This record gives sequence, structure tokens and C-alpha cells, in this order.
Amino acid sequence: MKYQSTRGGQGQVEASQAIIRGMAADGGLFVPESLPQVDMSFIESLQDMSYEERAFQILQLFLTDYTEEELHSCIRAAYGGDKFDTEKRAPLALLDDAQVLELWHGPTSAFKDMALQLLPQLLSAALPKNGIKETVLILVATSGDTGKAALEGFRDVPQTKIQVFYPDGGVSRIQKLQMVTQEGSNVSVYAVKGNFDDAQGGVKEIFGDAAFGEKLARQGVRLSSANSINWGRLVPQIVYYFSAYADMLAAGRLQAGEKVDFSVPTGNFGNILAGYYAKEMGLPVHKLICASNSNNVLTEFLQTGKYNRERPFYKTITPSMDILVSSNLERLLYEMTGHDAAQVAGWMRELAETGHYEVGPDLLQKIRQIFWADWTNDDDTMEAIGAAYHQKDYVLDTHTAVAWDVARKYKEEHAADSCPMIVVSTASSYKFNRSVLLALDEDTSGLSEFQLLKALHDFSDLPVPRGLAALKDKPVLHEDTCTREGMRAAVAEFAVRR
Ligand SMILES: *Cc1c(COP(=O)(O)O)cnc(C)c1O
Repeated sequence: MKYQSTRGGQGQVEASQAIIRGMAADGGLFVPESLPQVDMSFIESLQDMSYEERAFQILQLFLTDYTEEELHSCIRAAYGGDKFDTEKRAPLALLDDAQVLELWHGPTSAFKDMALQLLPQLLSAALPKNGIKETVLILVATSGDTGKAALEGFRDVPQTKIQVFYPDGGVSRIQKLQMVTQEGSNVSVYAVKGNFDDAQGGVKEIFGDAAFGEKLARQGVRLSSANSINWGRLVPQIVYYFSAYADMLAAGRLQAGEKVDFSVPTGNFGNILAGYYAKEMGLPVHKLICASNSNNVLTEFLQTGKYNRERPFYKTITPSMDILVSSNLERLLYEMTGHDAAQVAGWMRELAETGHYEVGPDLLQKIRQIFWADWTNDDDTMEAIGAAYHQKDYVLDTHTAVAWDVARKYKEEHAADSCPMIVVSTASSYKFNRSVLLALDEDTSGLSEFQLLKALHDFSDLPVPRGLAALKDKPVLHEDTCTREGMRAAVAEFAVRR
């Protein structure tokens, strides 16, 4: 299986090279030249397997230049041992007339772990395979969750280092504690004076500074990023769509071949795109429901064919979905146009130059046969949390509540052709505990973050995730701060630190 750029750049690369490079030289994203196909007996056979074995079955179809031993060892390091707090890794909660796919049982209690546990392993294995002797230094600017998930994924991974910059005062107390207590021999964490844009702008400048890059290269270090357009972050996400279907079969909630709907809380379009790939590989999926918050740029696109990022930006109670440029949509356009790279490159140029583009009616109709989209505001998100608790005795986090509410809207409109619904759950309710408690009519005034954890525990009886419960007693290991201008010096120092 070879990979090529969505924008038509010349040449094909192996999976391991796509993972090392992250992005293609022409600015496009790496995509497989064709999608592997599976049949129903393959899917049925997944029922009796562990999550790790399911992951192996899917990943080996895509990552063909990795040996079986390499894949097994990457998967074991990512999902094995006791990193996840449940044997099933991505369990399916079976409610009376709905299913919730829980993707937050990893070390940082959010779905980013599903990908960011595996990507570092795949990258580390890719380096010697391609004769690369340098250390790869991953730089991350974070507004909260991605930084912690990346730190956990890369800690102590051979031939890699990770340095995270977060805005001083721009993350929650829990998020800050999660990062400044990070353990590992290859990690560095800095608070940047300023806001998220300062941190992100600083990282971008460093990536764009060729002379600085060359200086690091002479010292045996190459810079890279772990962002969600890397193929190594996307491919692990295909696994849990198959895993959920296999669990539906095993629970007797589906006959083999029967279709399901997935409702996915969407930001950068990575998660739901993995569901699309699963469907195109042969998983019986009826509709992929794209659920957005007030930053409803994807709803508009999937309803009208117009992508327009020139719109107000809202800060919502679902911060991980506060995105106006959904990078992974480019991969969908490439597939749905039958690999028309020139067309895709044109739209992306338009987006960069004018802030918008529009696809034609035929393509829109094709996309709408597979995707259905709607959005939910903060008030309705809060209401959905209350409703799910009172009707199903299930506590949703805010992001999952967006998918829950949009699934409800879909079912109201499509009572006639509705399939079993799987709501994809992307965060533990403990990660967004204040909003969740408020939605459940609890009084949160004056409570510290740790008191909030306890309050939600007292209310819901759900176990507090280990990683969050342990934070109170962990020593602070990272107290460094810098200005945006000082970030380069911080990188230079950490790059050569032993
Ligand atoms: C990142 C994230 C999302 C959005 O996922 P995309 O792949 O960017 O669409 C949704 N919910 C949570 C909790 C997240 O962390």
C-alpha cells in the first residue's frame, strides 16, 4: 500500500515515510492510493478478539511496510498493559435503545489518546526503517488537551523528544497540572506569556525558520509535529469503528450485515473521516452524522456545499470542537471526487486566499448520501446532558452531548429509515466537570477543580479517572516559562539536552 498527496504532488511513499513527513511537500495530506476491502466474515471474526488484535487486523491492511512483529509491538506499547482503565479499551455502553462508544478510557481521559498512544510508536519504528539516525523533536502548541495527550504518548519513546508550549493562564487548572506534572525522560513543558495564538505562532515561526532547522540538523535533531493531519493519527481511529460493530454483533444487537448509524462530535473532521474510511472498506454503515457546536462551518458545508471560514468564532462549552478550518475534510474531498487532486488543490487555494470555496451540486449530493449534519448550541447541549441522565441514567460529557442531541434530531427526521445508533463519546464527563454538574442542576459555586471531581463522583458514582485523581499528589516537574520570542532558545536548549 502506497501513499500519495491529496494535491497531486509527484510520487508515492510508504506508510512509514508518510508518518515521518506528516504533510506532503505540496501542502497536501497523505492518503492511501486505494482503500483495502474487507468482507463480512472478516468483520465477524473480530468479535472474539481483544482490541489489540482487532487493531492489528485493521492496521496491517494500511501499514504494509511494517513487519508483523513491529505492528504487534507498537500496538502493545500503545494499548497494552494498564494504560487504559478497561480491558476493552474502547467499550460500547449498551443503553436500552442506544449505544455509546466510549473512547476516553486512556491515560488522559479523552479520545485523542486512541491515536496519540499509537502515533509515537509508529513514528519511532519508522525512523530506523528509513535510515534516520537523528532524534525527532516534536513541538506542540496546545490550548489544553492535545498537549497532555501528546506528552503521554511520546514519553520515553526511543529516538523522540517532545516539547509542549501552553499559554500561561490560558488553560484550566487541571489541564495545567496535567502538563506540569508530566513524567518521562524526554519531555519539556513551557508556559508561554500570552495567549494560544502566541504559542501557536511561535511554533509556526520555528518550523518556518530554515536556518534554525539546519542548525538543529547538524546537532542530530529534526523537528516534527504530531497534529491531526498525520496519517499515523488517522489510521488508529479506523479501528474503533470496526470494534464497535463487532461488539454490536457480539451483544446480539445486530445481524451480520445490518447497517448502523454513527453520530460523531466533530472539530477537525479526523474522527468522522475514520468512520468514512471504515464504511468505504466495507463496514455496514448507513449514515455518518456530523455533529457540530455553534462553530457550525461543517454543518453549513454538508448542507449547502459552501465552506466558509469567514464567520464569527465562538468559545463554547465544547472547546475541542471550536474550530473553523477542518483540515481533514481535504481527504474526504479527494475520495469523493475520485482522486481529483487538481480540483482539491484548487479549493484549498481558494480557501487560503478568500476564506471560502464551494463544491458543485452533484458532489454535494454524493456526500449527502453518506453524511448528515446538524449543530447544537450550548443551552441545548446542557439540556441533552440532563435528558440523557434522567432518561438513560448515563452521564455525558459536553462534546458527547452535542453528538447525542444531533442524533436525536436525526432520528426525529428519519423515523422511517432509522438504524441502530452509535453515539461516539470523546471525553470523560470528569474532564468537563463544571459544565456537566451545572447541566445536572448541581451547585458548583466556589468549588475548586478537585472539589468538582469529588462532587461529580458523589453525584454519579462513576470512578474518577486515575490520571485525574492522582494529580493532587504529584510533584510539579516543569516550571519553565518563556516569551513568544524566547521559544526558539527553549527549543535550542532542549534539543541538545541529554
Ligand atoms: C479533538 C476532539 C474532538 C474533535 O475531533 P476531530 O477529530 O477533530 O473532529 C471532539 N471531542 C473531543 C473531546 C476532542 O478532544
